Amino acid sequence: MITQVRAGPYTLRGVSVGGVYTTLHVPELDAVLDVGLALRSFASVGRFFLSHGHLDHVAGLAGLLNIRGLVGSGKATIHLPAEIEEPIRELLRAHTALSRAELAVELVPMLPGDERSLGHGMFVRALRTHHPVPSLGYQFVRRVARLRPEHQGKAPEEIARLRKEGADGLFEEHERLELAYATDTLSRVLESSPSLFESRVLVLECTFVDGTRTVEHARRKFHLHLDELVELAPRFHNEALVLMHFGQGSSPDAVRAAVERRLPPGLRERVVVFAPEGDRWFG
Ligand SMILES: [Zn+2]
Ligand SMILES: [Zn+2]
Repeated sequence: MITQVRAGPYTLRGVSVGGVYTTLHVPELDAVLDVGLALRSFASVGRFFLSHGHLDHVAGLAGLLNIRGLVGSGKATIHLPAEIEEPIRELLRAHTALSRAELAVELVPMLPGDERSLGHGMFVRALRTHHPVPSLGYQFVRRVARLRPEHQGKAPEEIARLRKEGADGLFEEHERLELAYATDTLSRVLESSPSLFESRVLVLECTFVDGTRTVEHARRKFHLHLDELVELAPRFHNEALVLMHFGQGSSPDAVRAAVERRLPPGLRERVVVFAPEGDRWFG
């Protein structure tokens, strides 16, 4: 069975084993984050966000598009690092040639800092991650109008009156950082995009969790070690911090034990380990 967890107001469903496959569905955002594996129940989702081109994150793409064709899901919108747009097109061309069937996609190439509207006041912003191939993280942002500080606390009738009088500058645009996704990256991502600490939910890779691998080893592999999060613990203001992309060298139970043992109280309670129950990985 696939894993399903709750993180703040969001649901995350899917599979994630570092180097093997990662694909996550967030129903509240109608989004699939990476497609390392083609999962049948993801076929009706309309929006895809690829972090980078390593096969544990894209190997399921053509398979999932094929299932979408089967169930009549229509064109998929795939956000991806601009540098991998052409290789992904070539990959899809090869699959089209093999199957003699067109795969319906719209590719949305993005660079760090780029934003795209997702409708209903929701945006996605690409952020730089640190990996040996072109890669991106994604921050989902909701823009809302809120009363300017000088008007906050006023009675609703007064606000209504000011509105009627056409008072300027009653409202200002406010950004709510909803959910961020940063995988396959050095911990440096938390320095280059410190807003990650403020995102309501942060989905972060944590490939290595215990003493069998050192922080230096993790850095050489362009990945993150749980010990690095220990030092940064006071800075995480997230309602939920979802850790995923664990290496298969540690069982899911061993990962939970390491998180319980190594993370300090205050952060530990807000951490959600994205791993199956028991001691075996999916597949
Ligand atoms: Zn990976
Ligand atoms: Zn990778």
